[in-house]
Amino acid sequence: MKDKVKIGIIICDRYRNCAGGKCLRALRNREGAFSVYKDNEVELVGYANCGGCPGGNIEYAPVEMIKNVAEVIHLATGFIVGYPPCPYLEFFRNFITASFGVKVIIGTHPIPQKYYDMHHLLGSWNDPEWEEILKPTLADEKIRLAYD
Ligand code: SF4
Repeated sequence: MKDKVKIGIIICDRYRNCAGGKCLRALRNREGAFSVYKDNEVELVGYANCGGCPGGNIEYAPVEMIKNVAEVIHLATGFIVGYPPCPYLEFFRNFITASFGVKVIIGTHPIPQKYYDMHHLLGSWNDPEWEEILKPTLADEKIRLAYD
């Protein structure tokens, strides 16, 4: 087992009442974007929402997490799968990295199949840049169905 990694999770405010069930399950099972930690212990040191469009809490939540020694901040899968996907996603990733020098990973739990299907129908993820964004949380259909 490698070293313990301390992480923070920021969720989209549209899901502000979410109890974190899918994220925490995926973290426990090392699924989706958490599969990178399959050989690590992980400690969740912060959980917050973006503050609502256009994401005012992105300026502040990472500070709290870094005070708790967060090394990686995950922008939750809701940023990707919401209707529409968060239009500020790339900006937030760049901002957090540039401002706080902390690693940012887009995504938490695997993309649920129902969102996968709808976004394919809508063509939301057709632009080439989505390939890299979706990679950590794409999973396979069996896993995606398990997160519906
Ligand atoms: S769409 Fe983006 S800015 Fe708006 S509430 Fe969700 S994460 Fe925050």
